[in-house]
Amino acid sequence: DTAVKSPKSELFTVRSPNVTYTDKDIISKYTYRTTEVNVTDGKYIATPKETLYDFKTERNVGKVGVMLVGLGGNNGTTITAGILANRRNLTWETREGPRAANYYGSVIMGSTVKLGTDAKTNKEINIPLHDMLPMAHPNDLVIGGWDISSLDLAAAADRAKVLEPTLKQLVRKELASIKPLPSIYYPDFIAANQESRADNVVPGSKASSEHVEHIRKDIRDFKATHSLDKVIVLWTANTERYADVLPGVNDTSANLLASIESGHAEIAPSTVFAVASILENVPFINGSPQNTFVPGCLALASEKNSFLGGDDFKSGQTKMKSALVDFLINAGIKLTSIASYNHLGNNDGKNLSSQAQFRSKEISKSNVVDDMVEANTVLYKPGEKPDHTVVIKYMPAVGDNKRAMDEYYAEIFLGGHQTIFISNVCEDSLLAAPLIIDLILVAELMTRITWRAGRKEQESAGGKGEWKGFHSVLSVLSYMLKAPVVPEGTPVINSLARQRGCMVNVLRACVGLEAEGDMGLEYKLF
Ligand code: NAD
Repeated sequence: DTAVKSPKSELFTVRSPNVTYTDKDIISKYTYRTTEVNVTDGKYIATPKETLYDFKTERNVGKVGVMLVGLGGNNGTTITAGILANRRNLTWETREGPRAANYYGSVIMGSTVKLGTDAKTNKEINIPLHDMLPMAHPNDLVIGGWDISSLDLAAAADRAKVLEPTLKQLVRKELASIKPLPSIYYPDFIAANQESRADNVVPGSKASSEHVEHIRKDIRDFKATHSLDKVIVLWTANTERYADVLPGVNDTSANLLASIESGHAEIAPSTVFAVASILENVPFINGSPQNTFVPGCLALASEKNSFLGGDDFKSGQTKMKSALVDFLINAGIKLTSIASYNHLGNNDGKNLSSQAQFRSKEISKSNVVDDMVEANTVLYKPGEKPDHTVVIKYMPAVGDNKRAMDEYYAEIFLGGHQTIFISNVCEDSLLAAPLIIDLILVAELMTRITWRAGRKEQESAGGKGEWKGFHSVLSVLSYMLKAPVVPEGTPVINSLARQRGCMVNVLRACVGLEAEGDMGLEYKLF
């Protein structure tokens, strides 16, 4: 007997005075409960605090396009073939028998969340995370993008050596019809060993306003050609070296724009793509570890209310690490060292065999346990950290099947030790492609969510506030990212469980549901 029936595509409706459904939107009044702590002389006073927010989610997703920078790479070809295979519901033979298209490895498409408890049976009801709020379906995404290599996607998929030949055969014709747009290439930013594939480049080897305008026009043309309602741009191109952050060059938005105009040598291609996306008001996600988001770029996004997300997909070794370290430290076990070795034989590995690009990856892989260590003041003194080393070697023979080997060494009761070895064979692009889909689906959703201060807060502020978007830095994407970029002055969360909790609970708030709790009192107090 809900007032407004949900469209067929929506799996559930919330019946609550705090939730309103209109044809266009879902509006929720949400009470956010936190704890404010005052510290005096080493003692704490904890005060429960309530903040009221209104959330509004547009129900109509529209037609969504995705432009990948690095479309002809291993990830670009894998995600494109994967979407084609799912769209056509393909099955293909492998030596282990037939396999069917799926979205395994996508947290949005492949995992479920608790909606609540069945009124009749008292059993938990779980629904696909994809059904928490109206979201785009990956099968409906229109894929395009750029690459400095001119190969069509069928030839590029052959080069990538990721897909089963039988699957590749089934999507070959469609892949062959996709050719990456020419891209911008500043040789100094990626490894010299990439030069031989750079045969599809826009003239000019350093940043320029023409390059920004060129990319902006590509975005607009893509949108018009496919009659899209919105576009998301995602960098899955080679890892670049770090750009120097220099006063007067890339420290403010005005300086960054001026430096692009004057062709300053420290402006990376990825930053040019980010700036073009911001100026087109299109979300930009950085899937590689480099510092694309120099301060001037972050400032520009904030001024233009355009979304950024990054850095570096969290697919294999780091994902394990951010789950395992969370477990160890939260179990009260004192982790004292992590040694992480990788070897891989794909083009990413080839690029990372160059020192400056490896350094970007090393930085991104190194800080992923900091928050968990700092939070445990019982095990670690201020500033104390486990030893942590990261090694990456290029080993062509293993191709895209990256090996990640880790040793976790920890101190336990009375000076004992726990030593854990993990050997993790990560089929790199098959792990990364579903993550890219998650990043796109959640970033797209964030373009449809707005918020304002709730009633009490509005009254004290003298009236209704304007509906506005989330902060331009989308830290809600952290689950999918190795080195999450967060709004300045806010904490970086690396713990995988907390990152998932954040994402799920933000979605729940938008439909007026309480954050997921694990008390299970309904099973204890009766
Ligand atoms: P890849 O080398 O196969 O693909 C990168 C593509 O980018 C190549 O086709 C290259 O020609 C193209 N390229 C380089 N510079 C470009 C530019 N300026 N403009 C447009 N295209 C450009 O690599 P991949 O395995 O697909 O990985 C892509 C990125 O994702 C890498 O930076 C990698 O570190 C990062 N990443 C991958 C994983 C994973 O695959 N599991 C995880 C984390 C991060």
